[in-house]
Amino acid sequence: MIQRIAIIGMGTMGPGMAARLARGGLQVTAYDLAPAALERAQAMLSVAESVLQSLGIVAPAAGGGAVRFTSDIADAVSGANLVIENVPENISVKAEVYRRIDGLVGSDTIVASDTSGIPITQLQAHISNPERFVGMHWSNPPHIIPMIEVIGGAQTAPETVQTIRDLIRSLGLLPVVVKKDVPGFVENRVLYALLREVVDLVERGVIEPEDIDTCVSWGIGYKLAVVGPMALLDMAGLDIYNSVSSFLNADLADRKDVAPMIGEKIAAGTLGIKSGVGIYPYTPDRIAEVQRERARKLVAIRRILEEKD
Ligand code: NAD
Repeated sequence: MIQRIAIIGMGTMGPGMAARLARGGLQVTAYDLAPAALERAQAMLSVAESVLQSLGIVAPAAGGGAVRFTSDIADAVSGANLVIENVPENISVKAEVYRRIDGLVGSDTIVASDTSGIPITQLQAHISNPERFVGMHWSNPPHIIPMIEVIGGAQTAPETVQTIRDLIRSLGLLPVVVKKDVPGFVENRVLYALLREVVDLVERGVIEPEDIDTCVSWGIGYKLAVVGPMALLDMAGLDIYNSVSSFLNADLADRKDVAPMIGEKIAAGTLGIKSGVGIYPYTPDRIAEVQRERARKLVAIRRILEEKD
């Protein structure tokens, strides 16, 4: 049974994950290579805890878990039943972490990666117990989005996938098992198909960014939160899908490289919120406002979606 979890890497994703796991009654140790990241993570943990409070997610009666920060990786993984690697999306950085923890954890410790899409089969080549290695892909913000993808690689034991799926369920979250280790898994494949099309439409001058955001959020996103895409096929009728797809599929964006608009913005140093400009401009006040507003609305929508009739 999983009771102690170590999180390696406390950047964007780590603090929310730690807060959610502790709220499920688990003992979490949190490690990061960078002292500044560990310090930032403590403030982010408090924010995530108050969001969980507002979602009504309370610790089990048997006793709450806790998060302990440490700057020593051996201390972090000592006694852990599960280690979640959450360092940048780069195979060599991740492989270095696996090498480092290999000699520090027991042979029955499960090591999970929060990779957004590097095939698990590639990652598990760098660890000596590949049958105990699994993908556990959270969605950002991890303390608010309840769906987590679970992916086994070629060498992952079925019991490892099952243990992680059961853990996620026991926390009241929604595990989705991805049956084949395809790059990007499923959530990001669907998202990136959508992003390729919207960037193409903006680049071709079909629509302005503000208008496509309104179109997708209110026309598609709002509905998809209630009716999943496969159920949407039934709602529309498969005959309608068939006739529209028969002419539209051939016209959809299908480029294999990245749209030039993205490269041009990167070359100009406009990377998005982190640079103050991306597709849209942001002032520091606006960034704080956007982040508060998004968290508040995601919490409100989730409450409604969880209501039973
Ligand atoms: P991040 O860059 O915000 O944070 C990574 C942290 O890892 C940093 O604090 C860094 O100091 C630390 N780190 C780097 N090398 C380390 C090492 N050797 N040991 C310990 N700590 C180390 O990254 P993130 O956005 O939190 O993403 C982490 C992982 O989660 C990536 O694989 C990413 O693809 C995945 N992911 C990200 C998101 C997202 O929206 N950001 C969503 C789902 C999954």
